[in-house]
Amino acid sequence: MICRGRFAPSPTGELHFGSLLAALASCLEARARGGEWRVRMEDVDTPRTVPGAAEAILACLEAHGFVWEGETLWQSRRREAYREALATLQSRGLAYPCACSRREIAVATDIRAIDGGLRYPGTCRHGLPPGRIARAWRLRTEDADIAFIDRIQGRICQNLARDVGDFVLWRADGQFAYQLAVVVDDAFQGITHIVRGADLLDSTSRQIYLQRCLGYDVPEYLHVPVATNAADEKLSKQTGAPALDVRQPVANLTRALAFLGQRPPQELSKASVAEVWAWALAHWKPENIPRTRRLRTNGREQPSCGATRR
Ligand code: GLU
Repeated sequence: MICRGRFAPSPTGELHFGSLLAALASCLEARARGGEWRVRMEDVDTPRTVPGAAEAILACLEAHGFVWEGETLWQSRRREAYREALATLQSRGLAYPCACSRREIAVATDIRAIDGGLRYPGTCRHGLPPGRIARAWRLRTEDADIAFIDRIQGRICQNLARDVGDFVLWRADGQFAYQLAVVVDDAFQGITHIVRGADLLDSTSRQIYLQRCLGYDVPEYLHVPVATNAADEKLSKQTGAPALDVRQPVANLTRALAFLGQRPPQELSKASVAEVWAWALAHWKPENIPRTRRLRTNGREQPSCGATRR
């Protein structure tokens, strides 16, 4: 079976150092296995999509020497596939309609889910209360452990009913949820190796459960540490992470390699983009990626000595 990896950015802003890590690690892992690498634009959440961001992301990838197989897949054009998957889950009694507003959930519970949000108290689990209409569709979770071995983070185990609760597949604002879209598209694109930031580690059990419910194969997972700034906040547009400078691809790539524990030699800073890629492929050692969920960078986006383990 051919190994296939992917990079799946959300076009909510330009690429920053944190997203370069996921792009680079996923591409190197797929290529080192002699496999393919795809790009998927996760623009399913239309309200969060920033005009022009998708095009800027693709141009930035190209400027950094990334090459991908096939056409870029756009989630905004995949709604029919998500609708079909939701219909399958509905027909199997696994998805149910939910009438609850955020406020009603907040009144009904104060139990937190693993992501810090309120865990759905199950109000509509056995049917909509009389006179109420569906706002969203949720997945019925099980009171059973879902465990997997992440190649960097080790064994991860969640009980979805306890740690997450019945989660949303189709949102009250008419959008399909990320968890459903990502699973449908990974299966559609035949992705066998998912490499991405450790901020998505806690979503993985939900995705594995959905893969099982839909009869899909479960891919392998590798979650690289999330880059944080000096205040230990995840690099993102919200925390003011600068967009990658497309005129500095070699510097950006070598910094990303260093962050991923690959120890690029000093001379590489004077090499061409193609030479950096050749070195990176020949020396790719995923086992050297730091085994932590978060890793602090200093202002120059180098791993700092005070890196914390979790
Ligand atoms: N679109 C998601 C993000 O940018 C990544 C999804 C994934 O890699 O599974 O955070």
